[in-house]
Amino acid sequence: MSHQLSCYDCGRTYPFDQRTRCECGEPLWIDTDPSDFSGPVDQSGPGMWRYSYTLPVDTPVGIGVAAGGTPLIPVPNLDKYGGSTVFIKDESEQPSGSFKDRGSAVGISYAVEEDIKWVGALSSGNMAMSVAANAASADRKCVVILPDDTPDSRLRAIAQYEPTVVQVNDFMALNQKLAEFESELDIEFINAQVPLRIEGQKTIAYEICEEFVPDAIVLPVASGGHASAVWKGLQELQEAGRIGDVPRLYLVQTKAADPIAEAYRQGKDTVSPTSVGDSIAFSILNTDPLSGNRALTAARETGGGVLSVSESAMKEARSRIASSAGLCVEPSAAVPLAGLRSLADRGEVESIEDVVLITTGTGFKELGLLEVDIEPKSIDVGDAYDTLAGLVE
Ligand SMILES: *Cc1c(COP(=O)(O)O)cnc(C)c1O
Ligand SMILES: [Zn+2]
Repeated sequence: MSHQLSCYDCGRTYPFDQRTRCECGEPLWIDTDPSDFSGPVDQSGPGMWRYSYTLPVDTPVGIGVAAGGTPLIPVPNLDKYGGSTVFIKDESEQPSGSFKDRGSAVGISYAVEEDIKWVGALSSGNMAMSVAANAASADRKCVVILPDDTPDSRLRAIAQYEPTVVQVNDFMALNQKLAEFESELDIEFINAQVPLRIEGQKTIAYEICEEFVPDAIVLPVASGGHASAVWKGLQELQEAGRIGDVPRLYLVQTKAADPIAEAYRQGKDTVSPTSVGDSIAFSILNTDPLSGNRALTAARETGGGVLSVSESAMKEARSRIASSAGLCVEPSAAVPLAGLRSLADRGEVESIEDVVLITTGTGFKELGLLEVDIEPKSIDVGDAYDTLAGLVE
């Protein structure tokens, strides 16, 4: 496969040299030749590596072998709430607990293939954990750059993999600035919009469509990297003649940080930075998304949309995913269900439609955030039989 970068927007192309942004300012991705798809899927590849013929690296290293291959679970218990036939693509079942492992697996495997010693991530949570964990398992040195107000529990979750931890006072500013000098450093940054990461993350679209092609896919959006990747995967499948219509992509944000939804509502072509409000959706509080315009385009081109949900709608959705689907997801990963609920209310999805919600990350990392009403029955041990027998009468 030829490694050429291209811009989804203006069509300019560049040799694959780790440049991440086009002269026009938009993020780049790696061109994939749809004829590569004519071969059979490699059934023997583990997880997402069954699609290695479409990836820029062949051989996974370390925990990269365990990336992808997550289950697509029908959840009839949520059909009524979601006003459609609901499925959950459960990305919480990844080695470090989020979909980011798909992209990290490709980035780290590339670093090993090219003998690049240092990898890096700019992140306050799942990205840092994923890159640090993958790096640890593949003997790469890793630097993670975090906001200086990162909570201690998250800091420890990342630090257990022993990366070099750097804290910066203006995280969003560095996020924009890094593109100016990252290609001059001997550090392979595997941030959200990096082309290698997009390649890994697109495999979720292949996995979903290999089972069946839904009418819509709903996912949380922050930087827009994940949404861009899903869109890229779907376009490739369509160009290769593997699917007909591309599912509608609905991207969901929290009202506390919704620059992409705001641009969508206003009918704009470009996303402008916003301020951030109070929220426990730490993984999606991005006010200046580097792939924001691309994500907006993905939603529009597929006939979907971008919306934002309230903190209370998100909490209710998180609790329903636990109590009706039996899955423990983090608050950010519950916004797709909250979004689906409002899409159903507005008549944008129909009850006969198949909708896949991507739950992007596990809730087991941040159990301290859970709001659960509980009134345990207290009994004397001598009353145990009567209590239990009484329960099922
Ligand atoms: C990173 C992340 C997102 C957002 O993905 P982007 O590529 O930044 O849009 C959503 N959910 C979870 C759990 C994440 O960790
Ligand atoms: Zn361009």
